[in-house]
Amino acid sequence: MKTIDEVEEQTTGEGAPSHEQKTLSRRMFVEAAALAGAGLVTATAMAQSRQESQAGRQGDSPSDPGPENAALLRENPSANTPPFTDHGNPAPIWYSFDLTAKRMQGGGWTHQVTERELPKSKEIAGVNMRLTAGSFRELHWHLADEWAIMLTGKARISIMQPDGKMFIDDIGAGDLWYFPAGFPHSIQGLEGDGCEFLLVFDQGDFSEDDTFLLSEFLAHTPPEVVQKNMGWSRQEWDQLPPTELYIFPSQLPGPLEDDRRFLGKYLETNNKYTFKASSMAPTKKTAGGEVRIVDSSNFPVAQNIASAIVTIKPGGMREMHWHPNVSEWQYWIKGKGRMTVVLTEGKARTMDFNANDVGYVPAMAGHYVENTGTEDIVFLEMFKTAHYQDVSLNQWIARMPDKMAQAHLKLPVSTIRRAPQDKEVLLPE
Ligand code: MN
Ligand code: MN
Repeated sequence: MKTIDEVEEQTTGEGAPSHEQKTLSRRMFVEAAALAGAGLVTATAMAQSRQESQAGRQGDSPSDPGPENAALLRENPSANTPPFTDHGNPAPIWYSFDLTAKRMQGGGWTHQVTERELPKSKEIAGVNMRLTAGSFRELHWHLADEWAIMLTGKARISIMQPDGKMFIDDIGAGDLWYFPAGFPHSIQGLEGDGCEFLLVFDQGDFSEDDTFLLSEFLAHTPPEVVQKNMGWSRQEWDQLPPTELYIFPSQLPGPLEDDRRFLGKYLETNNKYTFKASSMAPTKKTAGGEVRIVDSSNFPVAQNIASAIVTIKPGGMREMHWHPNVSEWQYWIKGKGRMTVVLTEGKARTMDFNANDVGYVPAMAGHYVENTGTEDIVFLEMFKTAHYQDVSLNQWIARMPDKMAQAHLKLPVSTIRRAPQDKEVLLPE
């Protein structure tokens, strides 16, 4: 351990602490040394670090006269100048689709935020995609389950089950779909301005460039085998796309009812692969906002991905809580807010979030989301699980017997019981 004089020696010259700061450090050091002897070193070290953090935010201390990226600082002030309660490095909890390269093709584009951008996000990856009117995301399937929300516009989706029945539906803004792994499916932008949507996969390392494609199955099977399988001639095989189509423009489809009539007895009607979340009543509504929870209990095909669609009013907040089962992957649709994530070993990180940003909360880490803007926040909480679960900090403290609560919080019982006495999800009540 260095003595305080050794520390001071290293910090003489420009930017060295003032005499007052040195005196303060020296006093804290002496106090710490005395308390260390009394076996109180851990508590003191923490107290000292809180004092230091607060001192660093006063007077001239936070000034930053060198170069800066002003636009980035305005967007995310908490990232650069964290609240004094932040501590350590819990790894990235923020990314934005607006920093990721779009793959652009005739008919639309796609980009993704996966484990490559948020290295701790092993359970969920997200893809944001645009299809102009009539354009297709080529018929495909993949290893992950796919959950989706339409952000704007309309699309026609189809999915075939292994039993040969096909489900087909049109979907509008705010509505969802779910495609289990391996089931082949299609998405086509509809009349007007096509669509833009968010896809969520239950694999952190998913890549939108790594899907099984109709075109590639045919292009990479020997033509004589395709001839045997389909009865098509070699000349006809030569006319098939020699490489992937992926996203491509096409003609608008006819009415949905025509496609359903075409399918006849092969139309799937028992399993519903779409969910009209835009017309769903809130699961919980308070003065602070509302939440719609969609998981396998109300959307039975969604066996591996659960969601909470959250609206927070200006000044309101998603209460302090955690999820006891899995990590949380967020997509921000609208508004401006901040979130702190608190992990083990006191690691804590606060970031600001805007539309098109992604947030990540490691499994079981405590967090809140506060509306710091002037309009409603709308964001998605996504989970790799069949059933949504959360634990409310207020509810837990409310259930603690008085003596238990008082022993831990060091507050009078009357103060402790002034907090909300139930899970409110969104505050104020
Ligand atoms: Mn897909
Ligand atoms: Mn949460």
